[in-house]
Amino acid sequence: MKYEIKNGWTDASEELKKAVYDFSVGYVDFLNKGKTERECVDAAVELAEAAGFKPLSSFAGLKAGDKVYAVNKHKGFAAAVIGKKPMTEGIGIVGSHIDSPRLDLKQNPLYEADEMAFLKTHYYGGIKKYQWTAIPLAIHGVIVKQNGETLKIALGDEGDDVTFVITDLLPHLGNSQMSKPAHSFIEGENLNVLVGSMPLGGSEDDKKFKANILRLLEEKYAIDEEDFTSAELEIVPAFKAKDLGLDRSMIGAYGHDDRVCSYPNLRALLDAEAPEYTALCLLTDKEEVGSMGNTGAKSRFLELVILELLSRTGSSADALSLNRCLDRSLCLSADVSAAYDPNFASVYEKNNSGRMNCGIAVSKYTGSRGKGGSNDAPAELMAKVRKIFNEAGVLWHTAELGKVDEGGGGTIAQFVADLGVDTIDCGVPMLSMHSPFEVAGKMDVYQCYKAFSAFFDRK
Ligand code: MN
Ligand code: MN
Repeated sequence: MKYEIKNGWTDASEELKKAVYDFSVGYVDFLNKGKTERECVDAAVELAEAAGFKPLSSFAGLKAGDKVYAVNKHKGFAAAVIGKKPMTEGIGIVGSHIDSPRLDLKQNPLYEADEMAFLKTHYYGGIKKYQWTAIPLAIHGVIVKQNGETLKIALGDEGDDVTFVITDLLPHLGNSQMSKPAHSFIEGENLNVLVGSMPLGGSEDDKKFKANILRLLEEKYAIDEEDFTSAELEIVPAFKAKDLGLDRSMIGAYGHDDRVCSYPNLRALLDAEAPEYTALCLLTDKEEVGSMGNTGAKSRFLELVILELLSRTGSSADALSLNRCLDRSLCLSADVSAAYDPNFASVYEKNNSGRMNCGIAVSKYTGSRGKGGSNDAPAELMAKVRKIFNEAGVLWHTAELGKVDEGGGGTIAQFVADLGVDTIDCGVPMLSMHSPFEVAGKMDVYQCYKAFSAFFDRK
């Protein structure tokens, strides 16, 4: 068979176009609800419950067709549909991540300087710092008060009555700034969010501008300054996800990476009916900083969920059953790839690049500088995956991230593979990845959904 990279819009039937557009409506809604990992978990739980899924802990026993979900410390999520085969014959896992690059507030963030009030940040994940200045910003996250009460914050988005910004230097005074390398002309320590410029009237405080912000926070949320120390507040772009292009063939949004795989993953799982193999959707946190900690892909959460499922499906929940299950399981590690961009053609090798509108991009291996840090999937697994995709009419192509020695990257695949699971990377090719406004092709989002559905339904 000739290997061809094909644009999915070419010869697309009206029926396919409608399916693509309809699917993207749900995805845009998910993006607008989930700008942080915690918000994505809340959105996933809402969708799962609407689809008849119940908390795993509420079941004493499980049988084929049962639908369950579990939450990992507010930041991770798993859902499963129990298959007809015993889990010790293996399961099908699609894993993706719901954290995105952003700026986190420091634990003591609020200060004033020269009659303005600012919040200090520490960036999270791989960003180009200059992209975060002079754009409208929102604050999303939680403040957990000493008494355990959790306040959810979402302030500054498009449509709200206020927003926030990190200032940049005017070009008129930018001569020395503009001669610096791009990685240093905006310093990380200068990513300070402007939040106020009015003093607290009648105050004896020598920091009246800071005091005024604290007064407003007290009025609005009943919090004090020390409450910031037990908060997780994320500075994210204020934009809403939007159709992009006159032809509406793309979606521009903050946080496509990796909600653009997480939503199709979740949707495919929620739509799975009585699969042969137990199907499991895993949404993880901390991928952008290395997948560590108890909510990242390196955590024991996946093993715990599988053990909880084993113990309820008639298998013994012991180390042998767990390891048999993992050893015989397959995983699609679903994360974005770089789409070939003609404006930066020199860093790509076109025959082996992700291509927008050409369907799900499958990466047998990832990594950089001689596949360092790669999960290199076995050829046998690649054969199984292309058979599943081809038989289901999924549009797919192979991809690696840029030219050899140009850079590279990796995701959660290696951590799932470490458990014994045959794992391969795949996902949506993306333009402007890791920027505040990333671009995905609608065709590819839908093809991901088709791909994951076919994978969950494999015989
Ligand atoms: Mn990613
Ligand atoms: Mn990323």
